[in-house]
Amino acid sequence: MAFRCYRADLILPMDGPPIPSGVVQIADDGTIIDVGGPSLAEDKPCTYYRGVLLPGFINAHCHLELSHMQDMIPTGTGLIPFIRDIIRKREAPLEHIIDCARRADEEMRRDGIVAVGDISNVDHTAVVKKHSPLRYHTFVEVFDLWQPSHADEEYRRASALAEQFDQAPHKVSIVPHAPYSVSYALFQRIRSEHTNGLSLSMHNQETAAEDEFFMRGTGALVEFYHELGIKIDAFEPTGKTSLQSILERDLLPGNGPVLLVHNTQTTREDIRMTQNRLESVYWVSCPNANLYIENRLPQYRLFVEEGARVCIGTDSLASNWGLSIMEEVRTILRYQSYLDWKEVLRWATLHGAQALGMDDTLGSLTPGKRPGLVHIDMDVDAPQPMKTYRSHQRIV
Ligand SMILES: [Zn+2]
Repeated sequence: MAFRCYRADLILPMDGPPIPSGVVQIADDGTIIDVGGPSLAEDKPCTYYRGVLLPGFINAHCHLELSHMQDMIPTGTGLIPFIRDIIRKREAPLEHIIDCARRADEEMRRDGIVAVGDISNVDHTAVVKKHSPLRYHTFVEVFDLWQPSHADEEYRRASALAEQFDQAPHKVSIVPHAPYSVSYALFQRIRSEHTNGLSLSMHNQETAAEDEFFMRGTGALVEFYHELGIKIDAFEPTGKTSLQSILERDLLPGNGPVLLVHNTQTTREDIRMTQNRLESVYWVSCPNANLYIENRLPQYRLFVEEGARVCIGTDSLASNWGLSIMEEVRTILRYQSYLDWKEVLRWATLHGAQALGMDDTLGSLTPGKRPGLVHIDMDVDAPQPMKTYRSHQRIV
């Protein structure tokens, strides 16, 4: 069989330990044939890359449909003013929205991203995803702003929308927006209709106001509802964090990957309780968006110490400077450089593929998979290797 051979200072297969002076053989159609040490390259022509070779990146959280909002919202205002701006400014001609989404899709491809977990509230991006070589899992998002009488209607609307994104090889599921915007009745409806084994995503603990809302029934979210003229009589404070309140009521599906997104306020107790109650939970971090909106990052140390599986997303161009998983990795390691950089790259690849249920073909350099191949030009033996980053590109 015809194949190409690549070698590098370090290969990160992700399904096993790093391989110094490693070699990877890949068939012309991108299927991994073999991965191993230098002896694998003997007598064969093999292209050398300085630095690291690893599988294609997975963007576990994006909002492609907000790509036209790049540079429209100021940084550092906090989540609630941000949401206010999204609502106020998102209208635009459909042609422009689609054009921006298409360019954002291309930007992700250039970054070495091979699959995306993407939130949709409307059908604008269906045509872009249909023709994209990236693999998408669309999370059709629902919320009823704590109006349980609207729960069924909102769910029906989401079902109709989900059909438009249901185009193989892409996947789709209906998901709750966030604990503060979804009534228990709507949570229950989502849970009862959820397909076994399919991924589900939820924004989680992105702002201190979310926990304050659940613990005491006060704060900026209560004011936000008031400002919108929406009565939230169905809501009662629980004395617990938002995540613990949802878990105690058993409102998330017990099987299939659950992606919790942002987690900047998440405590050790939250992590422990979640890992105990849910079979398969992934903590999605979007550090650049967190810095853009709230100027705050999750405490990654807690997640590592608790053995939690972290993956990485970009969020939307409305709340980020670009859609690059490599940039997210660099941000994490710039601010919390005690982390093992090779482990953070596993978050960016294998964990994301597992979270989206795409690890049958993506996420690791396992023979038989077609995960793509990314080269990062850097000095792997430097004291802080990621500080020596020069560039990166997808080569397969
Ligand atoms: Zn989001």
